[in-house]
Amino acid sequence: PFEVLIIGGGPAGVASAIYTARKGFRTGIAAERFGGQLNDTLGIENLPGTEYTEGPRLVTDLKTQVDANAIEVMNLALAERLEPATQKGALHTVHFAGGGTLKARALILATGARWRNLGVPGEAEYRNKGVAYCPHCDGPLFKGKRIAVIGGGNSGVEAAIDLAQVVGHVTLIEFDHQLRADKVLQDKLRSMDNVDIIVSAQTTEITGADGKVNALKRKDRNSGEEHTLALEGVFVQIGLVPNSEWLKDSGIELSQHGEIVTDARGATNLPGVFGAGDTTTVPYKQIVIAMGQGSTAALSAFDYLIRNVAI
Ligand code: FAD
Repeated sequence: PFEVLIIGGGPAGVASAIYTARKGFRTGIAAERFGGQLNDTLGIENLPGTEYTEGPRLVTDLKTQVDANAIEVMNLALAERLEPATQKGALHTVHFAGGGTLKARALILATGARWRNLGVPGEAEYRNKGVAYCPHCDGPLFKGKRIAVIGGGNSGVEAAIDLAQVVGHVTLIEFDHQLRADKVLQDKLRSMDNVDIIVSAQTTEITGADGKVNALKRKDRNSGEEHTLALEGVFVQIGLVPNSEWLKDSGIELSQHGEIVTDARGATNLPGVFGAGDTTTVPYKQIVIAMGQGSTAALSAFDYLIRNVAI
């Protein structure tokens, strides 16, 4: 068995693995797709110490470091069920698609999250070519340009406020007949002079030319009328879904949004089971935060093992 098994091979999982391997623990990473969301990321400009990199390049760099630390990587391994240890220091079992199992004294769950997609034509085709999901990451790419933010909840309205200070013009599009964000955020947004707000609007298509977004089509849900909005960018802000469905019957505490509830040390309610990164309740989903949380969870796993397991 592993002393530490990490489920998830994104920045959180990799950071955890480097820390526990360097403590001398037999460490494994089991991941559906090593690198996680980084595989879908183009430019990264907010990772301190690295002025510019690209997602796939960072994945390669992380893999090089993982290999240098004798960490066992099981890629294309989809965890389906967690069977926690029945007492402190005993083995946890993770069941994988295809019938395999892995056992470990400590587990770090770092299965990340995925942006909820609109599911309209053009969205996938123009991803990273005008269709974006992360305002902190990609906002500056649209400096002075026209963009739409889809979604009038807190994340959509926050994104619109943030982006309005960087881009030329923002149109906020909400499906419902009213915004759902906190009033103070709505007031702030309405006070900005380069912002339009459109409610009762269903986005039906994102169009482009020459490999770049050029417009968004929407239908007025009251009149049925179709409209085309010329723009250069679309930020989809209709929710981030944690990859925690597989934990539902494990006894681990999940928030109302399905996030793994972790404390400041990365501990969950199950002894010897820790969480890190986008799949947890940590606020703000970013690479540097996932890496930091991964290291925290790893040091907590170390603490747990030296107290509860004869090594
Ligand atoms: P993830 O990267 O999501 O990794 C999760 C891992 O778990 C993957 O290996 C996945 O395959 C695996 N997994 C999931 N479910 C299972 C399962 N059941 N069994 C086994 N393995 C599983 N952040 C920035 O800081 N700067 C940026 O510029 C930036 N740009 C972004 C651009 C895009 C397009 C996207 C989508 C995100 C961007 N982010 C950016 C956010 C950043 O990528 C995430 O915050 C970060 O990747 C989270 O790391 P993580 O390790 O928690 O999860």
